[in-house]
Amino acid sequence: MTSNYIVADVGGTHIRVACFPVQSQKPTIVQRISTVGPDSPHDRLINLIATVAPKDEEIAAITVAAPGPLNPFEGIVYEAPNIPSWINLPLKKQIEDQFHVPVAIGNDANLAALGEWRFGAGAGHHNLVYITVSTGIGGGVIIKNQLLLGVRGLAAELGHVTVIPDGPLCGCGQRGHLEAVASGPAIALWVEQELSQGIPSSLSASQPITAKDVSEAASQGDELARAALARSATFIGTAIADFLHIFNPTLVIIGGGVSQSGEAFFGPLRIAMNEHVMSKKYLENLTLTASALGDDVGLMGALALAQTVTNPAT
Ligand SMILES: [Zn+2]
Repeated sequence: MTSNYIVADVGGTHIRVACFPVQSQKPTIVQRISTVGPDSPHDRLINLIATVAPKDEEIAAITVAAPGPLNPFEGIVYEAPNIPSWINLPLKKQIEDQFHVPVAIGNDANLAALGEWRFGAGAGHHNLVYITVSTGIGGGVIIKNQLLLGVRGLAAELGHVTVIPDGPLCGCGQRGHLEAVASGPAIALWVEQELSQGIPSSLSASQPITAKDVSEAASQGDELARAALARSATFIGTAIADFLHIFNPTLVIIGGGVSQSGEAFFGPLRIAMNEHVMSKKYLENLTLTASALGDDVGLMGALALAQTVTNPAT
């Protein structure tokens, strides 16, 4: 009988669930629904898993990449910034009670790091840092082929390091974190503030601006848009120098929508990183690259976790 992994990626906007035959990296089915609907996000996730799971085949494991902070050992989501009803949610137990198979959950950015390491840009590396820059800034770290989790699995929140004490309010409730000054919404907000000061741009303040708008305007040569990306990239590059000092990886992977902005983003990021390292030794044999898995990184990370659940030694 065919055995399958059912993997899920839960975001604030969409839930995606895929079925992978064990030993395969190609899903036989992928389905996506919006996270918010008439029933709760939790019920929508359970129902989508039931829909995607093949009826007459074995399920080897179910894994979920979820927004966190979460405890992957106990399978509890402490809170999810974009899913307000998920507070101390025992997600692993609830899925186990429903499907009676091994279940594991992981922080989405941690699993993205795991997915890139196993299937994407991180292949062949043993020590890497993954940073995703989109609505928020998340991180994951692989050290000696192990995902760094910490005692409760709350590592490694690389977006929530303080870069401006008493700076802008962060999504986590603290002030001046990297996420608050360099995420997609922070880029858009900065452009809106500059426009309100009368700075010329092809972007218009008459409608809400997104980081994608800024990225597109930058690719057309818009100076304000380029400055906005450079500002974000400089903060992130400076923080990456810190992460090099702490983790000493051979690879830094940048994921998320903002990483698709090309050299307008990577150029200033590299300059800031190079300027802030305490020794050029950190830059020797260091590769800086964009995510290889794109939008599939959550599902592929959950697949990597599923393989770990059923083969702990791998
Ligand atoms: Zn924060």
